[in-house]
Amino acid sequence: MDLVVRTARFPEIGETIIGESFATNPGGKGANQAAAAGKLGGKPRFLAKVGADAFGRELLHSLGVCGVDTGSVIVDPTLVSGVAVITVDSEGRNTIVVSPGANGHLYADEVEGEIEEVGPEILLAQLEVPLEAVEAAAAKLPADKLFILNPAPARDLPDSLLQRVDYLTPNETETEFLTGIRPVTDEDCLAAADKLFAKGVRNVVITLGEHGCFLATPQFGQRFPTLEVRPVDTTAAGDAFNGALAFFLSEGRDIDNAILLANVVGALSTQKTGAQSSMPTMREVREAASE
Ligand code: ADP
Repeated sequence: MDLVVRTARFPEIGETIIGESFATNPGGKGANQAAAAGKLGGKPRFLAKVGADAFGRELLHSLGVCGVDTGSVIVDPTLVSGVAVITVDSEGRNTIVVSPGANGHLYADEVEGEIEEVGPEILLAQLEVPLEAVEAAAAKLPADKLFILNPAPARDLPDSLLQRVDYLTPNETETEFLTGIRPVTDEDCLAAADKLFAKGVRNVVITLGEHGCFLATPQFGQRFPTLEVRPVDTTAAGDAFNGALAFFLSEGRDIDNAILLANVVGALSTQKTGAQSSMPTMREVREAASE
């Protein structure tokens, strides 16, 4: 759950100030990505852990409204739901402290059991749960099923995990963290992707904000421009892109087409405030894509 306070300025350490508005917004990278796929008409099943508290209930409700199957979400009454405490100043800058709560206690055996039972066609994972949980899910996934890893928030990843990744989807800062290369030009993107290929990743999709994204396979690299929009709130644009990519690939579309449409979903998500509430429907995507 995102707890967002708007304030004219940030407090100094030890200082108390009076802020402005306060809002709770259902969030979390994985939840947002599942919501994006659900809003588009997919059938995502979400695996995470929440507490038996008010935030947990609200998070599950929000996902249900977005069309997400929450049957794999574990509710643990001994834990509290994860929160992000966010302050936004008058210039739109933010500070964020994430307390993972229950998600910090998602265990390998729980994940393995769910993957076995659900038998997903595509697994889309992020790094807001313990790495062991992501590794366990990837290891249980049959070899012919697609694994998309959104390496966010950035952290060091073992080659054993990267070798199982079909599509790695870092944004600019995550790309720089993982490769030491800031992806500005197409050549930068290719050089960064080469470093990731050397670690065993099969394909790389670098998201580049308003510049769209760059797809690199061992055979070729190509930039895909996105829609030109005037963003209102870019929160969760990357989540919109990732959820959409998984959804469009699950429809059997080829990667070029899936990326083209995922860019549209990412761009449209910047047109509304919030995270899950800003994800577009398929009708909105069709309208925007045909303009
Ligand atoms: P993150 O939110 O993880 O930093 P990006 O900023 O790279 O991810 O955004 C993900 C995708 O969302 C981009 O690849 C692009 O398709 C779309 N997007 C993000 N910002 C904009 C923007 N200002 N204009 C148009 N599309 C955008």
